[in-house]
Amino acid sequence: MNYQAPRGTFDILPDEIHKWYYLEEIIRKNAILFNYKEIRFPIFERLELFQRGVGESTDIVEKEMYIFKDKKGRTFALRPEGTASIARAYIEHNITSSQKNPLRLFYLGPMFRYSRPQKGRYRQFYQFGLEYIGNPQPIADAEIIALGMKIYQDAKVPEIKLEINSVGCPICRKEYNTTLKNFLLLNKEKYCSDCQRRMEVNPLRVFDCKNETCQNLLKNAPRMIDNLCSACDNHFKEVLDLLKKMNVDYNVNPNIVRGLDYYTRTAFEYKINYLGAQDEIGGGGRYDNLIEYLGGKPTPAVGLSGGLERVLLSLDKSKVHIPKEDSLDVFIIPLDSEFLTQSIHLQQELHQKNISVIIADTQTSLKNNLKYCDKNKVKFAIIIGEDEMKSGEFVVKDIREKSQKKIIISEICGYIFSNLKLM
Ligand SMILES: [Zn+2]
Ligand SMILES: [Zn+2]
Repeated sequence: MNYQAPRGTFDILPDEIHKWYYLEEIIRKNAILFNYKEIRFPIFERLELFQRGVGESTDIVEKEMYIFKDKKGRTFALRPEGTASIARAYIEHNITSSQKNPLRLFYLGPMFRYSRPQKGRYRQFYQFGLEYIGNPQPIADAEIIALGMKIYQDAKVPEIKLEINSVGCPICRKEYNTTLKNFLLLNKEKYCSDCQRRMEVNPLRVFDCKNETCQNLLKNAPRMIDNLCSACDNHFKEVLDLLKKMNVDYNVNPNIVRGLDYYTRTAFEYKINYLGAQDEIGGGGRYDNLIEYLGGKPTPAVGLSGGLERVLLSLDKSKVHIPKEDSLDVFIIPLDSEFLTQSIHLQQELHQKNISVIIADTQTSLKNNLKYCDKNKVKFAIIIGEDEMKSGEFVVKDIREKSQKKIIISEICGYIFSNLKLM
């Protein structure tokens, strides 16, 4: 049998890993700048958490979850996103009980969705997220949105655009839902079957439809943004005003919806121009009612999440230079296994100074070992053989300068250390 990675998953090979470090480092660094603390939560949770926390009527829960039973017959699912788990952890550990301040959290890790794999979309995919819990004010929305933007800009994502909308609150949305439903029912049979079902269950979700006919029919639909209550309207205007003050460009897009009750007010998406079409690479919004909905005290919150794969693809496509991690400092080449003891001692001494060192395989010829150094941009090679042991002087090759020097054993460490510092 030929084993392959499961469809929709991929290996990140050593040659590619520096790109992931690059992006992850930018995410971590920026999160920490704003005092977001990392939270790590399980890869799987009880299925009910996602059914309730992501929403029964969403595509994710309806079609895309990896569900399994454990040996005791309990049903779990691989996490399809992070927010439900964070709300669960927040409630379970009562995180803010001892501190009145809002909580800022970030996460980074794999998520799982059973959907049709295509370029940049996978069944195991990597996501980062930021959550700001406990602050109902527009400044929290603006902070999250601007921080997301800063991450994409620092990573040099080309032509990143922000679209923003308000989805109101349960009060103004209830009224709007009725208005929208009446509008949709006027031409019910012209919509796709998915939409016909959605308009009964959750009319807002019709806006998610990718079908062109449906999109055309929706052009004249009543918009949530024109039907906000005055509290929601003010909140939205303040968020936009703060974004302006932060120099964050945006477009208001009334078609961004979050068809679930616990999503409130601000909703936004980050888009790039990818393969000729606008592609969403991240997004988020306010979810003031989720924590209460999952059994906690009423707690306002706002957050965002973004996938890493499409960001990396867009960096590749626009040829953004991503630095590779530093190459190996020292390669010790013992000419025979009898010189291993000496090699190990030298390696340990160099490691003490944080110099990266490996010892060559004595079955490989000196020629091939030196070729390896050339190819992998190793900085120094130290050769240990019979003559070197007798004289107490080792040959230290500076691979990039293509020069070499004989140096007394006791001085090698200092020599390498001071030379590395000069590089
Ligand atoms: Zn409202
Ligand atoms: Zn449709």
